[in-house]
Amino acid sequence: MRSVPEFAVAIPCYNEEECLEITYKELTKKLNTLAKQKAIKDGYRVVFVDDGSRDKTWRIICELAKKDKHIVGLKLAHNRGHQNALLAGMECAAKYGEVVVSMDADLQDDINAIDGFISEYRDGADIVYGVRSERKKDSFFKRHTAQMFYKIMRFMGAETVYNHADYRLMSRRAVDELMRYDERNLYLRGIVPMIGFKTAEVKYGRNERVAGESKYPLRKMINLAWDGITSFSVKPIRMMLSLGFIIFFISLAVMVYSLVMKIIGQVVDGWTFTICSIWLLGGLQMLMLGLIGEYVGKSYIESKHRPRYVIEEIVGSDAKS
Ligand code: UDP
Ligand code: MG
Repeated sequence: MRSVPEFAVAIPCYNEEECLEITYKELTKKLNTLAKQKAIKDGYRVVFVDDGSRDKTWRIICELAKKDKHIVGLKLAHNRGHQNALLAGMECAAKYGEVVVSMDADLQDDINAIDGFISEYRDGADIVYGVRSERKKDSFFKRHTAQMFYKIMRFMGAETVYNHADYRLMSRRAVDELMRYDERNLYLRGIVPMIGFKTAEVKYGRNERVAGESKYPLRKMINLAWDGITSFSVKPIRMMLSLGFIIFFISLAVMVYSLVMKIIGQVVDGWTFTICSIWLLGGLQMLMLGLIGEYVGKSYIESKHRPRYVIEEIVGSDAKS
């Protein structure tokens, strides 16, 4: 069993002036209790990342950092979106904590799940996913769009953990590995499972926002889904190639058919030639497009410079990494 960890939380905040004080109070109460119970080490850190907010968010973070030594504030120069803000927060938090928990600023993620996160970590998991047990408190619309989101993602070939949003614990070495993923179109829920290591899931009930309103309107959700699909899979390109093959084979059949019609002599002049050209050219074009797509897809994957492997352990009397 692993020893009691140094602990840090990363919280992205975009226009969260209504939430911050409440979140701060609840979270520090929880973390102080955990420290007292010796579940985490004293001297934990909470990293608030201001994602280019336009309200008083940064001022509040500065005040919190001034009065409480556990608080670290990080200000991004402009709004880079939840995923980027979260990554910045995790990179910073990993400097303080052997484990880093990522969560939202609105306390929708139940902070009591942290106990479970830590015990899974101490049992050997490097990544612990918070998984929602029910979505009764989300609106009808949110619940259904979210479910569709996971289904489409899976169909399109991007593996994600069902009902897991970015509430999770990662060990420092898992965060270090995450930082090796050099891509710009971030979709953390897709990348984290690629890292490997031992993982675990902890179920929790999703609360309502403590204050303020959602910073994830439909537009941002669609963008995230689109990023998720196009950053992880070249399946849409493969579909193009398959379509090319199908149309090409249909065109061969059409050619045979039109030749037979010609021989039987039931067609107007020029029909056979026109029909054959349309189908053959159409099929060939689609096939060629798909072929070019394959190369585009390959160079796209190359351009991500993803790490080729992650080493979990080395043994041997003179093991070197
Ligand atoms: N967030 C952010 N940058 C953005 C949008 C959102 O850092 O551009 C943060 C936000 O402050 C919150 C988290 O991302 O801590 C999740 O956003 P929200 O709770 O509004 O999303 P929802 O729970 O409604 O999906
Ligand atoms: Mg929320």
